[in-house]
Amino acid sequence: MKKRKLEIFLESLDGFKNPKITLEQYVTPPPIAAEIVMNAYLNKDLNIVYDLGCGTGILAIASALLGAYSVGVDVDKEALIIAKRNSIKAEVEIELIQNDVRFFEVSKRGTVITNPPFGIQKRFADRIFIEKALEIGDVVYSIHSIESEEFITKRARAKGFKITHLWKVKMPLRKTYSFHEKPFKYIPVEIYRMERI
Ligand code: SAH
Repeated sequence: MKKRKLEIFLESLDGFKNPKITLEQYVTPPPIAAEIVMNAYLNKDLNIVYDLGCGTGILAIASALLGAYSVGVDVDKEALIIAKRNSIKAEVEIELIQNDVRFFEVSKRGTVITNPPFGIQKRFADRIFIEKALEIGDVVYSIHSIESEEFITKRARAKGFKITHLWKVKMPLRKTYSFHEKPFKYIPVEIYRMERI
């Protein structure tokens, strides 16, 4: 499947119905989701994919469309119901698990693809995700707020990982919450690929 086709399909998936601000629920914009997953495909990273904080499932579903066995984890039941519906629409089977990522365990490590909370609403919400990703992943793709490099590099090193790629992109975010004034705005983010050494 071509990236553009994937992107167009991902545009048709449903987002959060009642986004919960405390959980920092934002859908990854389809062009960014397609870009990450296509890179993972080209790097041969799409075997077992763990999507931590899968929300409405865009990353897990995109991975499955490119051949991965995808597992999505989220605390929010409502989001998982939408993710399930989206997976049916995409005609892929993905495993969906309701759990806090802190308590999520796997029997086999795989590739983690995650767009975690940035820890803006709840301090350290992002740290829980990076720690879990570095525990259950052999390869990790993770989106972070700008100027996370020092922190991510330290955590990666401590857990025996190296950063192989770092993309700095402007993520177009749709208006999700009433306090957002514009219909969408660009948020600069950093996307990392890390690999267990
Ligand atoms: N991955 C989705 C959603 C990103 S928003 C996408 O790319 O579109 C972050 C998601 O993390 C939300 O769905 C939220 O419910 C979930 N989340 C936040 N804290 C969590 C935690 N401690 N455990 C599991 N999921 C969590």
